[in-house]
Amino acid sequence: MLTDKKVKNEAIETMGLFQFLPRLVVFDLDYTLWPFCCECRSKHEMPSLYPHAKGILHALKDKSIDVAVASRSPTADIANTFLDKLGIKSMFVAKEIFSSWIHKTDHFHRINQRTGVPYNAMLFFDDENRNIEAVSKMGVTSILVRKGVTLSSLREGLSKFSQNLASVRRNKQKWLKFSQKSGSPEK
Ligand SMILES: [Mg+2]
Repeated sequence: MLTDKKVKNEAIETMGLFQFLPRLVVFDLDYTLWPFCCECRSKHEMPSLYPHAKGILHALKDKSIDVAVASRSPTADIANTFLDKLGIKSMFVAKEIFSSWIHKTDHFHRINQRTGVPYNAMLFFDDENRNIEAVSKMGVTSILVRKGVTLSSLREGLSKFSQNLASVRRNKQKWLKFSQKSGSPEK
């Protein structure tokens, strides 16, 4: 098994392959950062993360990319206690943990307000398709994870982020050309 340090180094290497990186990476908690549902646990237990999670978080910090949490868990107190016990609580610039019927769009509104980072500069990992669908419609590059966040999901996320950014830029250029043409005085 890879150690946290090896995962971190590999994640940093992967990030080096991309010209454009997200400004903020947002993680779900249950079945994304940790392999359980914290609502069903006692806060007196000692939690553990998925094997690659800690290395990836530290690699992002190293590259000055902010990290945040978006969780629909109804037990924010247990989630916060676990983040504290795992020694990662202070790493997050925003932690939105509350239950919601509208998937996670309200979580992302709040994260956007708190951090000022635009949606198209964010990358999001979650294990539930309904969250991925709703949040990607807001313009956030969103990646479905099957067995928690891994080095390969990070690679997938960064490559999809680059593709999305490239298409946003292409559209912007097309629009600029179009508006210059239509705005220019007629001869
Ligand atoms: Mg989840």
